[in-house]
Amino acid sequence: MKTNPATSVAKTGAATTRWNPSPWRQDFPLIAEQTGLAYLDNAATTQKPTAVLNAVRAYYRERNANVHRAAHQLSDAATRAFEAAREKVAARFGASSAKEVIWTRGTTEAINLVAAAYAPLVLAEGDNVLISRMEHHSNIVPWQIACSRFGARLRAVAVLPNGELDLDDFDAKLDERTKIVALSHVSNALGTVNPVADLTARAKAAGAAVVVDGAQAAAHIEIDLRALGCDFYAFSGHKMYAPTGIGALIGRQELLEAMPPWQTGGEMIEHVRIEATTYAPPPFKFEAGTPNIAGAIGLAAAVDYLNDLDFARVASHEADLLAYATASLNQINGLRIVGTAGNKSPVLSFLAQGAHPHDIGALLDQQGVAVRAGHHCAMPLMETLGLPGTVRASFGLYNSRADVDALVTAVHKALSLL
Ligand code: PMP
Repeated sequence: MKTNPATSVAKTGAATTRWNPSPWRQDFPLIAEQTGLAYLDNAATTQKPTAVLNAVRAYYRERNANVHRAAHQLSDAATRAFEAAREKVAARFGASSAKEVIWTRGTTEAINLVAAAYAPLVLAEGDNVLISRMEHHSNIVPWQIACSRFGARLRAVAVLPNGELDLDDFDAKLDERTKIVALSHVSNALGTVNPVADLTARAKAAGAAVVVDGAQAAAHIEIDLRALGCDFYAFSGHKMYAPTGIGALIGRQELLEAMPPWQTGGEMIEHVRIEATTYAPPPFKFEAGTPNIAGAIGLAAAVDYLNDLDFARVASHEADLLAYATASLNQINGLRIVGTAGNKSPVLSFLAQGAHPHDIGALLDQQGVAVRAGHHCAMPLMETLGLPGTVRASFGLYNSRADVDALVTAVHKALSLL
């Protein structure tokens, strides 16, 4: 097994002042066992703690049955666990009730749901939808399609060279024909934390509904939807230590009630006749077919895991990693950090000496450092910044300064090979 060079440095004590171990590392088997790996691709997906792995396994071993068809005890147990998971998610995010939580495959499906079922209620010819140039493709393409369906225009707020949203441009592009504002809480490519509460207030004052893409926020920021004030919030479980294939759209109840279903079939109906069908109330109206029961139960375990942590301590650990990584990479000749917003999540994008990001990514991988390289599903942002892409290191709560040291060592080596 490869050893992580930075870990061994720290263990010898040669760099003890730099050694800031994560208290949560042992909770994650993949991280704890693969000692040669510096996993710095958390913005793509996070590893899973034992508590989540156990919850999924226990569900399949002890309670596996379909939900909402409780003719037998096993189904009843599965249904209760599944609905308890919804309650947990509602409480963690500050939803008004569990009825506001619609299970989806993740952020992408959640945004598509809003674009398919809410946009038709409000968009007409000449209206506009306001996004930004830093959005992930999953918060761009659904709006392009919705706009083209209704003859509306898609507007995109400019991004400043440091990776912050241009707030003057936001005000300039928001008008009385703006029906939907859809923004990321945190940029996956640059780590910028957008002032979504403030922007929501401005959008609501202009009469627009607000959709927040919380994919990159959920693991790093304690989200209170009452304080944010948005109408829809989308997130993915797999980016917050839960399984893949599960996430949610949290929506304001009166809007969910007014929205038509989008996918149809079993589970989402009240009564079906050949002539016509009546629908179940939200959230079930939006959950056609057998849901990802194990995923929801795994997500509830991830929420329990996060609830049990001192989140202020997590936030300060991650802020320390970001500051340490920023300072360390800034010392490397020819390396440029992309995205220097004042308020950043633990995401660090960079470019090195004109080398293509993919080449750097491959050379880092050979040294046991897992990062992402490319456009990060944010091509309009890369176009705005005039870049082919970046190398992105993104941190989770199990990372430590030793992982940053491994990154820095590996970047030096990569540059020496180019
Ligand atoms: N938005 C942002 C900001 C993201 O980072 C991602 C995932 N990279 C998504 C949306 C899409 O998430 P998912 O693939 O889990 O649906």
